Amino acid sequence: MLTTMMDVPLSLNHVLERAGALFPTQEIVSRRPDKSLVRHSYAQWHRRTRALAAALAGLGLQQGERVATLCWNHHAHLECYFGIPAAGGVMHTLNLRLAPEEIGWIAADAQDRVLIVDDVLLPLYGQFKHLHAFEHVIVFPFSGTSVPAGFTDYEAWLGSADPDAWVPAPHLETDPVAMCYTSGTTGRPKGVVYSHRSTLLHTLVACMGDFWGLKGSDVLLPVTPMFHANCWGTPYGAILTGAKLVFPGPHLHPEDLLDLMTLEPPTLSLGVPTIWMGMIQAYSAAQDPAHPQHGRWKLPQGMRSLVGGAAVPESLIRAFDAHGIWLLQGWGMTETSPLAAVSYPKAELRNAPQVERYRRAAMAGVPVPLVDLRIRGDDGQDAPWNGQAVGEIQVRGPFITGGYHEVPVSEEKFTPDGWLRTGDVASVDTLGFLRITDRTKDLIKSGGEWISSVDLENALMGHPAVAEAAVIAIPDEKWSERPLACVVIKPGHTAEAAALNAHLLQNHFAKWQLPERYEFIAAVPRTSTGKFWKLKLRQMFPN
Ligand code: ADP
Repeated sequence: MLTTMMDVPLSLNHVLERAGALFPTQEIVSRRPDKSLVRHSYAQWHRRTRALAAALAGLGLQQGERVATLCWNHHAHLECYFGIPAAGGVMHTLNLRLAPEEIGWIAADAQDRVLIVDDVLLPLYGQFKHLHAFEHVIVFPFSGTSVPAGFTDYEAWLGSADPDAWVPAPHLETDPVAMCYTSGTTGRPKGVVYSHRSTLLHTLVACMGDFWGLKGSDVLLPVTPMFHANCWGTPYGAILTGAKLVFPGPHLHPEDLLDLMTLEPPTLSLGVPTIWMGMIQAYSAAQDPAHPQHGRWKLPQGMRSLVGGAAVPESLIRAFDAHGIWLLQGWGMTETSPLAAVSYPKAELRNAPQVERYRRAAMAGVPVPLVDLRIRGDDGQDAPWNGQAVGEIQVRGPFITGGYHEVPVSEEKFTPDGWLRTGDVASVDTLGFLRITDRTKDLIKSGGEWISSVDLENALMGHPAVAEAAVIAIPDEKWSERPLACVVIKPGHTAEAAALNAHLLQNHFAKWQLPERYEFIAAVPRTSTGKFWKLKLRQMFPN
């Protein structure tokens, strides 16, 4: 029997046109380099995005060709999210926090034809331009000053294009729309390519009430960079639902974010745990009447925040909850679009005590619809979902990558039956909650027994004097590996190894699991995406 349903491809163009028609007065606020705010209506954004598509067509952009962006979070970057696919192109977000050599390598690997770059990032472009020749470099005058000679001015270029000249070209739903490179913690970075179909299915799932619960009445503040895993897909969700957007531009310091939240209170925000740790510390310090910033900030009561990309300590969840802000933990990776699991209060937890709610919120969550998930033990068998058995998380689904751009599919990354090997080690309990114990490469094997660096870090960060803690393995003659804890103490506090060990023992760690050594450091080094950079710590403390 044949279906009677229309064969209409899923398309971002539909989302673009629908937003223009239905939400013309909704606002998009962007913070400029000088910290002033600039406002656009959806109607303006829609016209500008169509003009961008027309302007790209004017450059002769062909279906599937890459247009790179090197931009902060702002309205013009959002224009790229829809305007580049509307022109049949593939938006390739370059990660501005990487070393210039790496950015250049990635641009060459992706064969980017056009670059759209913030004027304030031109010095960075200057450091890698010898590694890849873009045919066109278009400069967005983000700072409001004139674009240097020799470059195309984004505003003038858009102004000369006719938004009404753009007609959506027929395409397949499997056609590519965007690409992101993984941060390459092992080997070279690898490109993940998303399609209209994968992007829309991911957006629809993520917007569901149990997850982002995104609505047209929401105000979304994406702190996650738009060059990191498509800002976790939230720009697509905002335009789909017609939510107000508040973009922080280049100002991601805790104090700047607190300023922005006070000016334009969000109802939903997102970022990695380190962002939230910094914010709660700055806010808490300012509660002291003698503090220079006392009374300056107001935390947005009732805000939800999607936090992920690294384990979210329970102490952080509790600290924000005390201010009426709920942190919703998500788990995923560039390869999974990225949202693959979310820790939300399942129906079974309706009457659960508060302690249990916090405990669950500190877990990596339940797999979202359309994602198949299994835990493979060392023996190659599926581990039972009993909260005890651990193994590697493997996933499969319509928004999970099945390979990498121009890289042969390898057994290191994909199983013979086609599942993605995530490299994350976890258990799943009877309610389907994932508990990530480690990354395969971060595990500590001491005397034949595994020690979870994540568990130690979370417990250490629950100590009142500890601001941050990252645990790595150091070689040990007798035990082969032992844990080393790198700890940042909060200003005005003290804590010695003995006190931290006593705290860990109280938190049910066995004696043999305690760190072999503590290093008290000023700050934990961060990766380009703001996570704890364990590779760097291993270099700092090789033994
Ligand atoms: P990278 O960390 O290499 O930059 P991604 O940004 O794609 O790459 O991050 C994916 C990884 O981040 C996951 O494989 C996992 O190790 C880690 N991660 C993401 N969310 C969580 C979480 N909620 N808890 C623990 N680890 C997480």
